[in-house]
Amino acid sequence: MTAAYLREEHHMFRYAFRKFLEKEAYPYFSQWEKQGIIPRAFWTKMGENGFLCPWVDETYGGLNADFAYSVVINEELEKVGSSMVGIGLHNDIAVPYIAAYGTEEQKQKWLPKCVSGEIITAIAMTEPGAGSDLAGISTTAIRDGNFYIVNGQKTFITNGIHADVVIVVCKTNPNAKPAHQGISLLVIERDTPGFTRGRKLEKVGLHAQDTAELFFTDAKVPAENLLGEEGKGFYYLMEKLQQERLVVAIAAQTAAEVMFDLTKRYVKQRTAFGQRISEFQTVQFRLAEMATEIALGRTFLDDVIEQHILGRDVVTKVSMAKWWITEMAKRVAAESMQLHGGYGYMEEYEIARRYRDIPVSAIYAGTNEIMKMIIAKNLDLV
Ligand SMILES: Cc1cc2nc3c(=O)[nH]c(=O)nc-3n(C[C@H](O)[C@H](O)[C@H](O)COP(=O)(O)OP(=O)(O)OC[C@H]3O[C@@H](n4cnc5c(N)ncnc54)[C@H](O)[C@@H]3O)c2cc1C
Repeated sequence: MTAAYLREEHHMFRYAFRKFLEKEAYPYFSQWEKQGIIPRAFWTKMGENGFLCPWVDETYGGLNADFAYSVVINEELEKVGSSMVGIGLHNDIAVPYIAAYGTEEQKQKWLPKCVSGEIITAIAMTEPGAGSDLAGISTTAIRDGNFYIVNGQKTFITNGIHADVVIVVCKTNPNAKPAHQGISLLVIERDTPGFTRGRKLEKVGLHAQDTAELFFTDAKVPAENLLGEEGKGFYYLMEKLQQERLVVAIAAQTAAEVMFDLTKRYVKQRTAFGQRISEFQTVQFRLAEMATEIALGRTFLDDVIEQHILGRDVVTKVSMAKWWITEMAKRVAAESMQLHGGYGYMEEYEIARRYRDIPVSAIYAGTNEIMKMIIAKNLDLV
């Protein structure tokens, strides 16, 4: 059964996108994992074929596509491999800030290039000393005439190496009380004096995904690069983080579905004690349990996606989907590896990579503990 929000045109789009990925991504993915990065040339091809930010308004080169197209893109990218997440971050997490809060000049300057792939974006919130506690960041942007002078450091930034445009969360008023009212969003471009990149970080998983440190030392950023109003950055983040968490839930659900299919195929062909291991009842029950959890995740997720498309307030439900589905996908990964036996621990089996890739979904876009704090807050318990 397919979700109600997917219509004929979305199915056709999925078919075309999958064909594109079969030609341009699947054959090269292992190589990208070894190289530790997805080449820019692939981003450009994505742009040329209309697969980057198709939701952007036609005025700025997009297709005005609804969020169901984004769901299709994120699902199909995840099927190739979790390291494709940086593309989803550009499409549905970073660029929406420019579209929602940018001035007309900012939108004209950046959006068409975000759609074509000439500009790759990142969003930099996390610092070495502050992740979950976003209001505790220490990067400052102090106004000096027509510029902001930015000082600080960001870490774990997805697309950090490739990014031409980084939306940097910083404090324009470090003395604000409460602290979150001093936070603003600044767009910092590649060649800004004082902006440098650190190492490409080596991670447990997501090997082809580019994750880096960013440094700002008296970086001179034109004042016209402020996104929206000064002091409103925290509110903009609270608004846009919902879609970010939804994208993570979509990827984790898809990963669980992929891992289940891999495992089902494996247990049907592997034999032990003179029979296929899928014939042992204990194996059947484990697959039955996984199938049940995956079906529950899918039903809940599709409902949240539908509510999001309708523009409803999904804060609580998105937080529920994000923590539960990512934890479910972690359980599926562990069971799937176990059911592959020793082969599941070998790099040539896809389940090994999937097992490494999935845990971060419970950490980024707000940890699962933070998701439960949001849910609890909205339960009106005190
Ligand atoms: C691969 C990867 C890509 C990333 N990409 C980006 C990106 O593009 N942009 C970006 O800005 N960031 C990015 N991040 C950072 C990510 O969002 C943070 O790592 C995450 O928000 C957690 O912050 P932290 O690492 O500082 O952990 P901490 O905040 O230090 O948390 C450590 C532990 O304490 C728990 N904890 C913290 N506060 C509480 C509390 N109040 N109650 C209970 N438990 C609590 C946390 O849940 C966690 O388990 C990325 C991270 C990774 C690993």
